[in-house]
Parts: sequence; structure tokens; C-alpha cells
Amino acid sequence: MVKQLREVGVKAGKDTSVALLAWYDANARVMPWRVSPQDRAAGVRPDPYRIWLSEVMLQQTTVAAVTGYFQRFVSRWPTVMVLADADDGDVMGEWAGLGYYARARNLLKCARVVSGAYDGQFPDTYGQLLGLPGIGPYTAAAIAAIAFDHPETVVDGNVERVMARLFNISEPLPAVKPALKTKAASLTPKTRPGDYAQAVMDLGATVCTVHKPACGRCPLGDGCAARCAGTAMDLPRRVAKKPKPTRHGFVYLAQGTAGGWVLERRPDKGLLGGMLGWPTSEWNESPRDTPPFPADWVTLPEQVRHTFTHFHLFLTVRFAVLSKIPPSATFTLTRKHQFRPSDLPTVMRKAYDLWHAS
Ligand code: SF4
Repeated sequence: MVKQLREVGVKAGKDTSVALLAWYDANARVMPWRVSPQDRAAGVRPDPYRIWLSEVMLQQTTVAAVTGYFQRFVSRWPTVMVLADADDGDVMGEWAGLGYYARARNLLKCARVVSGAYDGQFPDTYGQLLGLPGIGPYTAAAIAAIAFDHPETVVDGNVERVMARLFNISEPLPAVKPALKTKAASLTPKTRPGDYAQAVMDLGATVCTVHKPACGRCPLGDGCAARCAGTAMDLPRRVAKKPKPTRHGFVYLAQGTAGGWVLERRPDKGLLGGMLGWPTSEWNESPRDTPPFPADWVTLPEQVRHTFTHFHLFLTVRFAVLSKIPPSATFTLTRKHQFRPSDLPTVMRKAYDLWHAS
């Protein structure tokens, strides 16, 4: 097979897509939202709802991390109409741990627009998709290509890496992104563009990997400029990132005498927006210890460490048992049997785990 593909070679855009599609037919990754190339050839069409849901979940997140969440979501909310009717708290709880919680809020907004304005049918053009909540240029292109087989150019980190190497482009990211997209567009075929988009991503994820490009078994090896130049391992280049700042804070775990917990729903805007969590202090360089109400607060000896996209966080965990929860519009007492640590975002769950292990 490899020899056969090598003979196809990569001399021009068409050759690239022919070689890559042939490779994809034999090597496509299996994913619960994906239609295999064989089924696609037999006329099976991808479900736009599943493609949209998977693409939103995959933003900033790996396939391995997404798969379980995806399966739980489609089993609980099998169509966009059902999801549109879901309770916000249930969706946020099911999303807990996946991170980037604005995605979950936009997911619901988008489901409600598709359900209301489009009668439950996703629009199929890039422009219309781009107008939906939470759908940016990448996701619109991915849905248009994968769900509707439109020849859109889909460029994620895997595709950028493959393009940088294929064309031996040494200018660093992120400034070189538009040039990489132009190269990717020059190779996008009119035939099977949906499969092609997935093929490039699969190649980047399984063959042209960050640390170990397997050029010897790559279907594009003969025409790859970086392979010829011996520069594959150095590409793509990146401007060095600034080190992340570190913030500190306090997190307050208050338990009622019957075993329930005091939680609060965070404001819709901001970090962990809309998620249920423990009351906390501000998070900054030198936060003040500001418990949400008076109690005999005990400090746990260890801290929670968590890294967000833009900063590292160290949280001091404080715990108290309350005989009475002070009346408040902000806090809710979750009964012991209703409390599920898995409904908490990861940083909040870490605080619970620390308390649980103490
Ligand atoms: Fe990547 Fe090597 Fe294939 Fe070039 S030949 S695309 S560097 S795996």
C-alpha cells in the first residue's frame, strides 16, 4: 500500500488530495461522530448535529478527552431539538470537567437558534453557520466540509503542522497562520472535501506528529519539502510564549450537618461562567481571605494547583461545618444525595478531592 501511494506522489495539489484520500480510506480514525469513508461512499451522510457537537467539544480539547462527553451528550440529548429544550444547569453539569465553559453556554444558545429559527435543521453554508452562536471560522468550515461536503478549508493545529512541513515554511506561528491557510486552500479538492478535511487532520494526528513525524510511512513523503530538507522536526516554528503568571486565592467548602454542601452558580460572564462551584475569594497576586459567611473555617494543609489558559492558580482550601446556612440569594444548599462532584468544573473538583483525601 505504501509503495502504491508513493507512486502516486505529491507533485501538485490534485496529487496530494488523491494520495491523502487513498491513505484515509485505509487509515481513517474511528470516532463516534464520524462516518467512515466506506459508509460515506455508500451514501451514508453525517448527522450535522453530531458534527457540530463534536467540533464544539473539540475546540482546545483532545479527541480522547471529548469522546466520553460526546457519548453522554448524544445519549441524553439525541437531537438539537431535544438539546434546545434541556435545562441549562443539566447541560452545564454534563459539561463539567471539559473546560472552556463559554462553549457550553454558546452550545445551548446555538441549539435554541437552530431549533427556533431553522426548525431544527442546521444551515449548510459557511456564511450561515458562522452566524450561529459559538461558531467561529474554523468550526463553520469544519461543519460545512464534514457534514455537508462543501469544499471549505479546515485548518487546525494538525493541518498547520502538515502544511508548514509539506511546503517547508519556516516563518513562525502565529504570524504565518494566514500563509498556511492559503497553502491548505490550494490543496483542498472539490471531490470528497469532507473526507479530505478529516484526512489531513488524521495525518497530522497519527503520522505527521509533533515530536515524531513518521515520514517513512507518510503518503505525502515523496513530495514533502521539509522531509527533503531534513527540517521536519523543526517545523512549525513558534514565537516563544511569555511565561504564564501565577494567581492565588481561597476556596470555601461549607458542609451542612446533614452532609449537604453550599454551592454557588458563577456569573454567566467570566471564568467558569455559569458553572456551579464553591464560593471563592478573588484570584490575584495577593488575595484577601474573604469567607462567604462567618464560621469556624479550617485551612487544609495542601493547596489546589490548576492551570488555566492564561495563568497558573494556587488555591488555599478552607472548610467549615455549618449548623445553619445563612439565607442568601447567591448560595444554594445541595443535599447530600444530590451532590455529584462530577458536576463541578475541574478546579472545583480538585478542591473537593483534596478535602475528601484530608
Ligand atoms: Fe510530515 Fe514527514 Fe509526511 Fe512531510 S513526509 S508531511 S514531515 S510525516
